[in-house]
Amino acid sequence: MAEITSSIPFADPSWHQDKTNPYYKDSHRALQKFIRNYVDTQIAPNVAQWEQQGFVPEENFKKHASLGFLAAAVFPLPIDQLAGIKLPAGINASGTDVETEWDEFHDSILIDEMARCGYLGTVWGINGGATVGGAPLSVYGNQLQKQKYLAPLLRGTQRHCLMITEPDIGSDVGGMTTTADKSKDGKHYVLNGQKKWVTQGQWATHALCAARTGGPGPKGVSVFIVDLSTKGIARTKMENSGVKSSGSTFVDLDEVLVPVENLLGVENKGFEIIMSTSAFTHERLWVGITALRLCRVALEDSYKHALKRETFGKPLFENQVIRQKFSKMAGLIEPTQFFMESLVHRSVRTSPLEFSPLAALLKVQAAHNLEKISRETQQVFGGLGYSRTGAGARVEQISRDVRVLVVSGGSEEILQDMITKSLKKLAKL
Ligand SMILES: Cc1cc2nc3c(=O)[nH]c(=O)nc-3n(C[C@H](O)[C@H](O)[C@H](O)COP(=O)(O)OP(=O)(O)OC[C@H]3O[C@@H](n4cnc5c(N)ncnc54)[C@H](O)[C@@H]3O)c2cc1C
Repeated sequence: MAEITSSIPFADPSWHQDKTNPYYKDSHRALQKFIRNYVDTQIAPNVAQWEQQGFVPEENFKKHASLGFLAAAVFPLPIDQLAGIKLPAGINASGTDVETEWDEFHDSILIDEMARCGYLGTVWGINGGATVGGAPLSVYGNQLQKQKYLAPLLRGTQRHCLMITEPDIGSDVGGMTTTADKSKDGKHYVLNGQKKWVTQGQWATHALCAARTGGPGPKGVSVFIVDLSTKGIARTKMENSGVKSSGSTFVDLDEVLVPVENLLGVENKGFEIIMSTSAFTHERLWVGITALRLCRVALEDSYKHALKRETFGKPLFENQVIRQKFSKMAGLIEPTQFFMESLVHRSVRTSPLEFSPLAALLKVQAAHNLEKISRETQQVFGGLGYSRTGAGARVEQISRDVRVLVVSGGSEEILQDMITKSLKKLAKL
């Protein structure tokens, strides 16, 4: 059994040692132990290879699904679609006993422990699109859509992706130009346009695709469930700085027929789905928790290196200027951890209007921390921090993945403005 917490200071959150922490119950601790063992034995030993080859093998994806990780990736859990699925560590999906029921902290522990593998491409690649696709289907899908698309997604028999960004439209989601016009017989929407940076796009079977059904602006956007084997869809692999095993893809849509029953929610109300708590707000919490864990991964690896590596006849760690780096990093990590935990607690107790800007604040701050810590930990590694193999490999990988956590799911400048505007409005100033 892998050790359940690291002996390196600040490599793990303090609740692991603090049995009095009020947020964490026995079932949270059992889940943390279960995922740590799974990641250390079945994920971490393979991640470098998967990143190099550009995909997570089918057998590992299936194993991940069979352990209940895809079903558990959707929060709140889609209870009515979970028949026959066992959640990780045998945690109950629902029941009368709140002590053992899956809750918001099981969700945050799952995100945290998966990110500990250090390779964002694998975290995205092995998830099968359950995180981005599951929640909108669960909240906005009708019963038939849930049976046809959500149930298979939770079991890993379908893989989904999210198609929002276009070559000319990223932050300005409401300005998208992909169109969805009704066919003459009224049975289909006909999709035309292009989508860019579609994570999982290389192997996804279905997409949640946003397109324009109405007039200009956010009020003319709808979301569709698209079968990616439909005629008129062409996919091209994209090469990015990092996240190679996440399957980033450019998608051309040319006269693609989507049955009208595959409209998700209400026509022209798609912008609400995209911006809803179930979609982007949870994604921002997800990015915040993931970035925070990657900070700890980078700190842990560089700390171990500083203890071992000798320069000028003594370990690097014996230099005051090097030691200071670790306390500075901890000064970024620990306050963000406590903010994150308070937000996770509030996530199911606060109105979406209040919660959304706070989740965005966490995302911006945690990604910003990671940019700084990525730089400092590479510096501790010297040349090894620039090498894809050896002790600095995870830190080097993080340096290539970090920028996407700043840009995607709402880019920094856009979110910072949204945070200030939303909170001013809520304060009625
Ligand atoms: C690896 C990767 C994976 C991704 N996965 C997906 C996916 O699965 N599905 C999907 O739909 N999209 C995905 N994206 C796209 C991502 O969501 C967008 O990159 C993001 O929304 C920003 O859009 P953009 O890149 O077009 O930047 P732009 O909108 O062109 O903005 C460029 C820069 O200018 C800033 N900016 C823009 N407008 C303003 C303004 N008014 N004031 C001040 N600053 C501004 C932005 O913050 C940004 O820094 C992914 C991107 C990457 C790189």
